[in-house]
Amino acid sequence: MSGKLQDRVALVTGGGSGIGRASALAFAREGVHVVVSDVAVEGGEETVRLVTAAGGDANFVAADVSKAADAERLIQRTVEMYGRLDCTHNNTGISRGAPLHEIPEEVWNAVLAVNLTGVWLCMKYEITQMLRQDGGTIVNTASTAGLVGRYGAAYTASKFGVVGLTKSAAMQYAPRGIRINAVCPGWIDTPMTHEGMLDPERLAGRIAEEPIGRIGTPEEVAEAVVWLCSDAAAFVLGVALPVDGGLVAR
Ligand code: NAD
Repeated sequence: MSGKLQDRVALVTGGGSGIGRASALAFAREGVHVVVSDVAVEGGEETVRLVTAAGGDANFVAADVSKAADAERLIQRTVEMYGRLDCTHNNTGISRGAPLHEIPEEVWNAVLAVNLTGVWLCMKYEITQMLRQDGGTIVNTASTAGLVGRYGAAYTASKFGVVGLTKSAAMQYAPRGIRINAVCPGWIDTPMTHEGMLDPERLAGRIAEEPIGRIGTPEEVAEAVVWLCSDAAAFVLGVALPVDGGLVAR
């Protein structure tokens, strides 16, 4: 893929951990200038350190994507630093599982605020910027939970929402040169899921869901994100791409 993204500017939200950190590193390997954002300052700064240590260029901007003022300021800061915004990976997410009738209202609201409203708010300001320049590419992290109904209700509702938001926006902005897609990871070993991976029974249950016979890595999702943002995927638009070891194909 080398060369296709050289010197472009990417923003990665939720970049302080897991899939977002892997995508920041993968963008940087392609010669992309990366703005890493996260509500967790320590994790975000650690990602910047890792990118820099690998010879790449990155800066950290703290933001809580569920707050409109933060999302707006994040895109403003990105443009102040680099003059434009070519690629974005809207990747922030939280997971809270409970049977639907037991979900406290504040938990429902928190999951929707981060996973869905947070993606919409970032897209709102990213698209505003991309309309001012010559377009751009956006990849949202949904989930296989955005494609099938076997996971917790709040998380599933939020991720189906991300898929819908992605498809609607892809149609609206394709004529304006903005290419928008989503990735739908299966089971990936990150801090979000790691505790469950330590319990042999839960780990076996997760692997059993994966036709490929193993859990995925953050790097495998990051490769798909970077490809979707690159010119190699120039004809790919409005997809919710499973990166899931075959989980939803079963
Ligand atoms: P993670 O917990 O390692 O990373 C998520 C990051 O988002 C963290 O750094 C966290 O600080 C940040 N974050 C949380 N709330 C935020 C907010 N309000 N504003 C800004 N940042 C915030 O988890 P991950 O597994 O890397 O998850 C990344 C994305 O992938 C999420 O959207 C998640 O739903 C999705 N996903 C993960 C899996 C999996 O198996 N790990 C599977 C499918 C989808």
